[in-house]
Amino acid sequence: MSDFTIELTEIRKSFGELDVLCGVNLAVERGEVIVLMGPSGSGKTTLVRCMNLLEEPDAGHVRICGCDFECGTRRDRGRKRLEQRARRHAGMVFQQFNLFPHMTALGNVIEGPRQVRKLSDAAAKELGERLLDRVGLADKSGEYPSRLSGGQKQRVAIARALAMEPEVVLFDEPTSALDPELHAEVLDVIQSLAREGMTMVIVTHETHFAREVADRIVFMDGGVIVEEATPDVFFTRPSQERARSFLRLVD
Ligand code: ADP
Repeated sequence: MSDFTIELTEIRKSFGELDVLCGVNLAVERGEVIVLMGPSGSGKTTLVRCMNLLEEPDAGHVRICGCDFECGTRRDRGRKRLEQRARRHAGMVFQQFNLFPHMTALGNVIEGPRQVRKLSDAAAKELGERLLDRVGLADKSGEYPSRLSGGQKQRVAIARALAMEPEVVLFDEPTSALDPELHAEVLDVIQSLAREGMTMVIVTHETHFAREVADRIVFMDGGVIVEEATPDVFFTRPSQERARSFLRLVD
């Protein structure tokens, strides 16, 4: 088995005239926690979306848990299957939670296991209840999203991602839609996953959290990776001026 869950090689992506990713190389090691930082518009969200092919790069190579994608080539049926495989292996937690409003917390968590993993209702329910308990929401399994706080919704979204038993979980600014007092409950869950050895890529502006949780900080600007370092080095003595001026702004 490869030591890497995701390997991106020379990834390029444009939206119309705008070049958003300009040749990105990044390999995510098994068990590693990468925090992706950088100014707004630098391409962080686009990059994590490329990691499970929610966004298809225009060019480059993506390898996800043993599946290879040569980007920019013709779509065909086999390719669709590979994309589905990629989404299953690389779970995603979105800024805006993206829960199904007409399903309870438990319903949201077990939908994927039932539909995609083909678990029986009983097995899916048992898994869902265990995962809701793991994110501290054992007592909310019957609630609909409209009756949950933002922090609770995001924890349901994390449980939902875990229910697919992904090899890596991608987080796109998981706390940015939440009131500040709700950040900690979500960050604590992510931190506990890190302690358990879950491979994760997290886009966040939370510097304190990044310092605690990351094995590696990847700093992007202008669609390229400008600096990669341990949190200690990145936050105390970054080598690039662009990283230094970013840190002066966020600190
Ligand atoms: P970041 O996460 O670092 O803020 P993004 O990846 O969200 O950066 O966006 C990078 C740039 O790409 C921004 O200028 C954004 O407006 C643009 N962009 C992102 N997604 C789309 C899209 N689907 N269509 C057009 N432009 C987009």
